[in-house]
Amino acid sequence: MYEKTQNILKMAKESNTSVISFICMDYVMARSVVYAAEATNTPAIVMLYPEHVTVQKTTGFANYATMVKELAKEVNVPIGLHADHDFSYNAVMTTIDAGFESVMIDGSMNDLDTNIELTKRVTLKARELGVCVEGEIGHVGTASISDNMNTDFYTKADAAEKFCRETGVDSLAVSIGNAHGEYANTPHLDIKRLQDIHAATDVPLVLHGGSGIPDDQLMVAFSNGINKFNLGTDFLARYYDAVTSFVADYASDSDPVKIINLPEYVQAKLQPYLEERMRTLCRF
Ligand SMILES: [Zn+2]
Repeated sequence: MYEKTQNILKMAKESNTSVISFICMDYVMARSVVYAAEATNTPAIVMLYPEHVTVQKTTGFANYATMVKELAKEVNVPIGLHADHDFSYNAVMTTIDAGFESVMIDGSMNDLDTNIELTKRVTLKARELGVCVEGEIGHVGTASISDNMNTDFYTKADAAEKFCRETGVDSLAVSIGNAHGEYANTPHLDIKRLQDIHAATDVPLVLHGGSGIPDDQLMVAFSNGINKFNLGTDFLARYYDAVTSFVADYASDSDPVKIINLPEYVQAKLQPYLEERMRTLCRF
């Protein structure tokens, strides 16, 4: 069933665990998540990375929101819909207009005051519309250039407290040694910093850059305030592997429309991986 993301985050916070928010670029990925969630009886969030609309053109905003809500109706477990990184007020409003009730405004490339100003403008409007907002403070950079090692980017607890108080965000993405994409070296989350941020704020905290962080570190983070965990790179890599495997398996098949078997084939490969991630990491 479709559930507002905010309610799923509340459930995660109450259970002292984290929901996994999966980047899904299309129906195949989204459906795999929804059915893995159902099979494991674990709430999950299907998340759009806006560039999948604006750059890769794998979907449309309204099309995506409708798709996820329709898929969610097919199952009993709570399924949320969320839009990842938008960087401007107008971009967020486009996302909301398309049917998203959970969005992210990422002003983390700005100085703190500018970030607060931008985020507050978004939350004030979003609140009127019944939409919840994730903000970001500190900066979650790019893993391949080792941004996760740059402590200048890390979230500071006192700034996080001020940010939450002044903007009224519903959830907060933090930078504690995590980064987007594939890590050059095994990351080491700064758990002490996370504990300080958790103590200074009362909103669910969000961990971006989830691919490649060892599970034992994730479990510690989930018991110290991380209630939403974004997983993209690893999932997309599995998708690629499944397509590669399909091409190999069907190479000698002369059926001119064999491609129609691809979505079901890929989902059968992705779903066990997703179920394993949910069973291992989520404690609802
Ligand atoms: Zn992110």
